[in-house]
Amino acid sequence: MPNPVRVVFLGGLGEIGRNCACVEVDERILLIDCGIMFPDPDMPGVDLVLPDFTYLRENAERIEGVVLTHGHEDHGGGLAFLLAEVAPVPIYGSALSLGLARNRIEEAGMLSRTELIPVTDGERRQIGPFDCQFIPVTHSVPHGFATAIYTPQGTILHSGDFKLDQNPVDGRMTDLALIGEIGRRGVRLLLSDSTNAEEAGHTPSESTVGIVLRELFWEHSQKRIIAACFASHIHRVQQIAEVAIEGGRSIAFLGRSMQQNVRLARSMGLLELPDDRLVDIEEIDRFEPSQICVICTGSQGEPMSALALMAAHENHRVKLGAEDTVIISAHPIPGNEANVSRVIGGLHRAGADVVHSGLAPVHVSGHANQEELKFLLNLVTPEFFVPVHGEYRHLVHHARLATRTGMAEGKVMICEDGDMLVIGDEGIDVERRFAPAGYLYVDGVVGDVGRGVLRDRRQLANEGIVVVIVTIDGQTGEIVTGPEIVTKGWVHATEAEELLEEAKEAVRQSLREAIDQEALDFETLRRHARSGLQKFITSRTRRRPAVIPVVMEV
Ligand SMILES: [Zn+2]
Ligand SMILES: [Zn+2]
Repeated sequence: MPNPVRVVFLGGLGEIGRNCACVEVDERILLIDCGIMFPDPDMPGVDLVLPDFTYLRENAERIEGVVLTHGHEDHGGGLAFLLAEVAPVPIYGSALSLGLARNRIEEAGMLSRTELIPVTDGERRQIGPFDCQFIPVTHSVPHGFATAIYTPQGTILHSGDFKLDQNPVDGRMTDLALIGEIGRRGVRLLLSDSTNAEEAGHTPSESTVGIVLRELFWEHSQKRIIAACFASHIHRVQQIAEVAIEGGRSIAFLGRSMQQNVRLARSMGLLELPDDRLVDIEEIDRFEPSQICVICTGSQGEPMSALALMAAHENHRVKLGAEDTVIISAHPIPGNEANVSRVIGGLHRAGADVVHSGLAPVHVSGHANQEELKFLLNLVTPEFFVPVHGEYRHLVHHARLATRTGMAEGKVMICEDGDMLVIGDEGIDVERRFAPAGYLYVDGVVGDVGRGVLRDRRQLANEGIVVVIVTIDGQTGEIVTGPEIVTKGWVHATEAEELLEEAKEAVRQSLREAIDQEALDFETLRRHARSGLQKFITSRTRRRPAVIPVVMEV
């Protein structure tokens, strides 16, 4: 009887981002993706969020390799951090996925701790005890894979991020025939992308965006056109470039990641651009507006991006005016709406015309909608199904879709980060909260920010801080200097002198009470200074800033 096979979810089940799962066969671990999540507005100062690496650190010597399903940051952005935590480990993926992940790994100085091993469409490869096959899928970055792992407990099929694009820009289709064949041979467990599980119908083909762009370029043919999209969305870049060239324009690229990715994709033959139509961004002013198109980063309103700087009049390369049309060929990721909206406002203020996904269908999703999700379920007819890649609500809706295709409720399981599946001869058991799976916050250096720090930052952001400084004679209890009060975010000092004087008096009063009781020790004095001031602040202003007493004895 074969040993049980295990799947441990470390991220991506309960949030969009930081996708990471372990498949375990014969005590070895194959990691599927290791991504990051972008922070919410309630995580002040946090640069990004990682999966909790505790389980991987504790089992580092068991890790056989990592499969990178595609080149997006929510799948590969955490690899550099992982490599810093565990023993050197190889990463498998398409040449493009590895190329996109490579920069971050190299910048972190971690390239020597891994081997990047390219795999090809349909390839079947043994990775330690893992018999894997890489199946082409369509998505918003080229050359993504679904992964089949043929284990002693049956086939596990992981969809990766996918849609069923019947008319992909590069002609590389999701290999439905291969998926069907694997399905017919029997799939024990399907793990599938839930991002769009609440969206009815089919996701339109990426090539529909090209048609919309062609019309827009024609309509704005006298304007200079600046088009922003994700730097990894090579097919979008290709389509923008094609309609620009058709209209007699030359093209300049702006934004570091855009320039990097264009270079990479061209070197791999994945982006076709004639050399004589490319111009350096420094040279665009030599062209008539109708003869140039700038393709840039910043479609998510990222504060330091090319587009945000344009909107703020701080981009040295592109100065916007009434001769410009900006096309934002992307949809804001949840959490980025406010930033995008601010950028659109700035672009208008600069006099430019702006076309975004709310006004014209200049963007389509890279993820499968309900009909495609059901199609995959029906094609594969798995014995068990666990929805992955989504917030909890998406997982619930995806599970519902599965039962609607006829799966028995007991065979559809909603799991969360930290849960483990144990696949045995009798069936699949779920062990809840098996591995630590909290958020690992990165601010500058990994692991620097704990939950306590975030709570403090939120309090400071919401309520401000008040510091009271006082020097006391340790023998007599006499106040020698102070109290001085310094505040940020409670009241504005120059406008509240009277209130601050009263606050000082409240501190003096409180200290005197302690001194009268001859409680002259440092801790008691600190406590009195703090509580006296806190009471005063609450009673007079109904606010709750952080109060920090600094009591010095001489
Ligand atoms: Zn993706
Ligand atoms: Zn993703």
